Amino acid sequence: MQNDKERIQIIWFRKDLRLSDNDLLQAAMQKKLPCVAVFYWPSHWLETNTLGLSKMGGHRKRFLAESLACLRTQLETYNIPLLVTDAPEDLSSTLAAKYVVENLWYHEDTTFEEAQEAQQVLSFWTNETKIWPLSRKGLFLKADCDRLIKKQEFSFSAFRKKVEKYLAVRATDHCPLTVQEPLNLEGLNGVLREEEFLETTSTIPDDTAFPFRGGELSALDRLHGYFFENHHVKSYKQTRNGLLGTEYSTKFSPWLAFGNISAATIVETLKKYEREYGANESTYWVYFELLWREYFKVLAEKNGTTFFQKYGFRTSKQSFPKASKEIFQLWIEGKTEDEFVNANMNELRSTGWMSNRGRQNVASYWIHDLQGDWRWGAAYFEMQLIDYDVHSNYGNWQYIAGIGIDGKPKHFDVQQQASYYDKNGEFRARWS
Ligand SMILES: Cc1cc2nc3c(=O)[nH]c(=O)nc-3n(C[C@H](O)[C@H](O)[C@H](O)COP(=O)(O)OP(=O)(O)OC[C@H]3O[C@@H](n4cnc5c(N)ncnc54)[C@H](O)[C@@H]3O)c2cc1C
Repeated sequence: MQNDKERIQIIWFRKDLRLSDNDLLQAAMQKKLPCVAVFYWPSHWLETNTLGLSKMGGHRKRFLAESLACLRTQLETYNIPLLVTDAPEDLSSTLAAKYVVENLWYHEDTTFEEAQEAQQVLSFWTNETKIWPLSRKGLFLKADCDRLIKKQEFSFSAFRKKVEKYLAVRATDHCPLTVQEPLNLEGLNGVLREEEFLETTSTIPDDTAFPFRGGELSALDRLHGYFFENHHVKSYKQTRNGLLGTEYSTKFSPWLAFGNISAATIVETLKKYEREYGANESTYWVYFELLWREYFKVLAEKNGTTFFQKYGFRTSKQSFPKASKEIFQLWIEGKTEDEFVNANMNELRSTGWMSNRGRQNVASYWIHDLQGDWRWGAAYFEMQLIDYDVHSNYGNWQYIAGIGIDGKPKHFDVQQQASYYDKNGEFRARWS
């Protein structure tokens, strides 16, 4: 009986929701078997914990739903269906009853919860299916990076100096996809609870600094616009600490977080821009900031749960005062004694976006002025930010708390920051 069944393979999409520069697709295409794309959303993402927070708030869920809708349309061109479900067990058994599922391709994620999630999902596949874990595709080839960075703990400047001296950003993968014969997916409807996840009541908020949609096509539009149409990249270093509007920074982070675009594609385009229009300090600085992102990823991969622990990379336990849940709630609701902090927190709650300057200030205020637990702040960002990225979020929170590799607490004078970065109070007035 087994042999009568059609042979297929699964591409499990996670934080790689794009077609270009995606080695999962490239690898699967080489096997010349029809593909089914799958996206799992564990239902616990939407559950609330004791702090009243969930893993994924409405803004990020909307952005993810848009990213999946875009991916689905893109895959349909090749007759590759995208199945979205919260029931991996039911999906694997239903597919296995209909097909011989030969291969399953996915990207490994080494952080604790993400690794656990993979273990659970993969446990539902039998030995009949060969599992192909591919390692994360960062800016550099993993083998080169592993060879170069031997230490477990290393500072950003040590990392930057080494990679700038010895490594080139990897080339992007360009794999022509082939159109496959449509698959018969009758009988699967019962196991897909995708409407529940994809339907979202949230719309793009008014007056947000991030009025863009999720998905590879919007990401590529923004990339092209920021570089070649508006040339804002030429003045990025001067504008990057801005607070209002769409153009003060690249706004690439939400698309990077869901893998709608790869950092290597951004750098490839940046190099093209520099060849055509010349390089300057600003064009370099976009690369410099992307190195921060890469740094946190490599550091997290080498240090496991240290990234999430109360005292992080510090061994001597400093005093760890704790603000109450009531104070936490005031911070969340933008009801503290500081107007600048409140404005930033209001922006985040209303739109899912906050500038880098804002993030540094509200994090510092929560940890060092209100004496709060950095992990609560990080968990709130995780729920709200549309660009939530486990490595950049926890890495930056540890950095501000002073329990990262660079152990100096970063305590900002928020009033001074407001008078410098929001001189005429326009930002505070907008989000008061
Ligand atoms: C407390 C705190 C929490 C943060 N949480 C996140 C998060 O969950 N997800 C996230 O992507 N970034 C996070 N950041 C980093 C940074 O604030 C955002 O990456 C940036 O504001 C995104 O806007 P942009 O794309 O316009 O950035 P740009 O200024 O245009 O920078 C270009 C890219 O460089 C990278 N980058 C810039 N600054 C940093 C940084 N400090 N650390 C790591 N990467 C950086 C991002 O990928 C960004 O898209 C956090 C920063 C702080 C202080």
